[in-house]
Amino acid sequence: MLTTLDGRMVSEKIAAELSLEIKRLKIEPGLAIIQVGDLATSSLYIKRKIAFANKIGVRVDHLRFSEDSYQDELLSEIDKLNHNNDVGGIIVQLPLPNKLDKSKIVEEIAPEKDVDGLRVGSIFTPATARGILSLLDHYQIKISGKRVVVVGRSTLVGKPIARALLSRGATVTICHRQTQNLADETRRADILVVAAGSPHLIKENYVKPGQVVIDVGLSSTGEGKLLGDVDQVSVREIVSAISPVPGGVGPMTVVSLFLNLLDAYKSK
Ligand code: ADP
Repeated sequence: MLTTLDGRMVSEKIAAELSLEIKRLKIEPGLAIIQVGDLATSSLYIKRKIAFANKIGVRVDHLRFSEDSYQDELLSEIDKLNHNNDVGGIIVQLPLPNKLDKSKIVEEIAPEKDVDGLRVGSIFTPATARGILSLLDHYQIKISGKRVVVVGRSTLVGKPIARALLSRGATVTICHRQTQNLADETRRADILVVAAGSPHLIKENYVKPGQVVIDVGLSSTGEGKLLGDVDQVSVREIVSAISPVPGGVGPMTVVSLFLNLLDAYKSK
């Protein structure tokens, strides 16, 4: 029997609890989102975060900068937000235009407000990784002692996921573009997490019976359809659990960002 790891349903459940907790705290948490330029995917992600924030009672300040802004303008805005007590979390929506020094900008965020977990050695677990842990926990999928294979080693997604699962006791292998015989590696996993940004990379010969598959990929086709990294139709018959795209990791990532924000307020 195939279990669908329903991120939308789980995220709504967590959102309801979050919203109650925010009411109980009697604070109106504030989140600042900095956007540079107007990349369509970034605007879409921000729109989702704002809609979610409205639902749970979080105020969002969406600060927009033009594509050709200077680094110093951004640094001084972040500095202002760092000192603003009405702002509990600061997000710099990535990617940034190439001429800006991403790590310099990200490192400017005060550690206790870095709710996206972007800084090196951040005290927050990046939202995607936290979301995947919550999704696995909700379905009572054991992590400790399991063989986990993560496809993708990006700083924001692949590596933090691998680190989070490692710290929960999994034996973790990270695969990437230079990996030889990817299918041999992925078939060995108990839990396979795919964050390669390569639509339908994972097909039936990459999986084995009984596996749990987490699809982190999100690519949009020309026609506006969203595709994951896993060819869901061809692996469904084989694996035991899978997260769909859309409706899997995406909503879990959004809710996790706000869990980080609440943690930021609680630790104040
Ligand atoms: P994201 O931000 O979604 O993680 P990136 O493009 O930054 O996306 O990173 C993609 C990662 O996936 C890289 O680490 C890359 O090596 C890996 N990757 C991409 N395509 C393949 C592939 N065909 N086989 C194995 N790994 C891949």
